[in-house]
Amino acid sequence: MAASSSGTDSRILVRKYGGSSLATVERIGAVARDLRRAREADYRLVAVVSAMGKTTDELAHLARSANPHPPRRELDMLLSVGERITMSLLSMALATESCPAISFTGSQCGIITDTSHTDARILEVKADRVREALTTGKIVIVAGFQGVSLAKEITTLGRGGSDTTAVALAAALGAIRCEILKDVDGVMSADPRLVAAARRHATLDYEQMRQIAVGGCGVVHLRAVEYAARYRVPLFVGSSFHDGPGTLVGEPEMLEAACTPTAATTEIATTAETATDPEPGVHYLPLTMHVQAEVARLAVEVPSELANHWRDEITQATADGGLLAEWLDESDGLRWQAIGTPQLLQPLAERLRPLAPADGVVFIWEDDRACITLTGCRPDSWLAVTDYMSDLLQSFGITDATLLPDGSTLRLVVPAVSHRQLARSIHKALFEPSGIIGNPG
Ligand code: ASP
Ligand code: MG
Repeated sequence: MAASSSGTDSRILVRKYGGSSLATVERIGAVARDLRRAREADYRLVAVVSAMGKTTDELAHLARSANPHPPRRELDMLLSVGERITMSLLSMALATESCPAISFTGSQCGIITDTSHTDARILEVKADRVREALTTGKIVIVAGFQGVSLAKEITTLGRGGSDTTAVALAAALGAIRCEILKDVDGVMSADPRLVAAARRHATLDYEQMRQIAVGGCGVVHLRAVEYAARYRVPLFVGSSFHDGPGTLVGEPEMLEAACTPTAATTEIATTAETATDPEPGVHYLPLTMHVQAEVARLAVEVPSELANHWRDEITQATADGGLLAEWLDESDGLRWQAIGTPQLLQPLAERLRPLAPADGVVFIWEDDRACITLTGCRPDSWLAVTDYMSDLLQSFGITDATLLPDGSTLRLVVPAVSHRQLARSIHKALFEPSGIIGNPG
């Protein structure tokens, strides 16, 4: 089998291994054996790797201990090292398996980006050296999350950006699919470490996957999903620890050609197909739920005459990004609210609080919250859903939650106390087969 008329080469497979799948030298050895087996099955393999374990966090921390506001160019020089460590170790491990392999940085692969350091976008993928190495039978290992800018500087693609490297290479090479291998079994309705009853989606289309990524659940990088949709790269999201069926992402007509034999035989349906017992009038079928502990909420309402000053304070304090979500309404004065980590929001809250005892100002600060995010469903009416969800929360004894709908995402900001139990109860209500909201079909 070789390149088809559509430019796909059914022998080329791109696999991306996440940081926790490569956290130790032992895990790197296991990945090397995994790749050897795939090569024996006659695949031409490109393995895109993340930094080992928490390396990127540690490097970022190191940078900030040298300089609280590190120059972004230098930050990229440092952060890109994490993936280079993994790529070379994996190539060495493959040599012990007698597998010919070669590692490349993003820049060596010709991943050309724009110049926005720490959050660069891929403009072009040349991949000549990758093609050449594949022709000679080598497994190609690529450092994810990085490229080289038009100004010839090393750039990184934003946290989680290795997924985007993998998808971009799969598109450039015409790979049969791009596999995103992680420490979970696929795209799940919730984190199975929190919710034992979490369920796996067998298939999702690009739009569903995009909505899940927009909600911030982090299973696949948003830009990677957008890139895959644009170039119609079939994605497989599954475990690097075992051969499970995982989740296939793409348009239904593409998936048959792209799927793995194990995935083709899975009988597990998507949540939408198996949820039952619909609540009449409430058409709400989220695809995933995820939970962030340690969240703060800051909400302000300021009359027009004070709005400029408050706006400046908020803009300055949030210039570096990092909020979980924010809502802005400037139609009459300024109404702004945001959720984020207490570390991020607290300094802003402290700056604004002394200004709050003025006429017409509302100031709300909550720093002992958790956020339960439901993604992937844009209902006919958010009002009907938030009504329904408020009742549901009340039935679990929660009366002081804030419900924040946004596009196809609903965030429930709830008291941090016992939020884990609450998350399990919500999962049971919304996602488990006997749940009370189901496919209205
Ligand atoms: N190592 C980088 C990060 O942790 C990139 C990635 O893992 O995709 O964000
Ligand atoms: Mg990582």
